[in-house]
Amino acid sequence: MIKQAAIVLASFIAVGGAVMACNGNTGAGAVDSKDPENAAAAEFPSEIEQLAENVFLFTNSTHRSLLVVTNDAVLATDPQGSQSNAERFVEVIREMTNAPIRYVVYSHHHGDHILGGEAFPADSEFIAHRNAEPYLETMDARSVDRFVGDEEIIDVGGLEVVLIYPGPSETDSSLVILVPERRVAFMVDAVAVRTVPWRTMNDANPQDWISALERVETLDFDILAPGHGPTGSKSDVRENITYLETLVGAVQERIDQGQTLEEIQETLELPEYQGWVRYNEHFKENIQGIYRELIGA
Ligand SMILES: [Zn+2]
Repeated sequence: MIKQAAIVLASFIAVGGAVMACNGNTGAGAVDSKDPENAAAAEFPSEIEQLAENVFLFTNSTHRSLLVVTNDAVLATDPQGSQSNAERFVEVIREMTNAPIRYVVYSHHHGDHILGGEAFPADSEFIAHRNAEPYLETMDARSVDRFVGDEEIIDVGGLEVVLIYPGPSETDSSLVILVPERRVAFMVDAVAVRTVPWRTMNDANPQDWISALERVETLDFDILAPGHGPTGSKSDVRENITYLETLVGAVQERIDQGQTLEEIQETLELPEYQGWVRYNEHFKENIQGIYRELIGA
């Protein structure tokens, strides 16, 4: 079974077949491994969602990693926080392909995404943005072999993957992993689909965050793959920008009126975002994060 899935995938890539529908992991019945036309029914492991030809998402609980698989190489992001999560990730990759896991990219420096890298092969090259370096020195993460700057092109078995640093957003090491030929952009925690940012937004500067997302919006892609939650499209980046701008404007207005943080948290609602994921849980903390930045505390 495992081998069959690998063969089907290899055949599919080799013939450069049409882009498969998302949720290629239907788990549906057996597939004739000699018939690439039927590759859409390939049995990928259940944690795998196909976004485009060669491009997949791996999901561990609520955390997601991008996976770029070609005949000759694999690029993965984020080991997913622990040795056991990373071991399962490697196992899933091995169920899909025998190609070497050439690259592992840290999307940003937060441990819940990047710890566990030791489970990957010793010769995998670990890559992160250079701003991650001082954080990593204090963490128990697998060490990085290559730090990158604002833009770095990586050849994954003939398919180009571009690492782009759009400026500080949720963290000052958050990268966009772009697969231009497949029109997919992956970014973790700084953007999500109809979901408010996490808690106090990591005390990030909201204007910087907005600028970074505006840069992301200029990139050439159709599919937005966040590190949590459902995939979306470029318009979701704009929706995230509008949310941040609206919240910053509303909090600033109330600061100008002399309101305290507690008063703002008690009275401010943004009804148009009440349907977003985590609004009820994290909106007041979003206000707190923005407030702290705006008053310069
Ligand atoms: Zn996260």
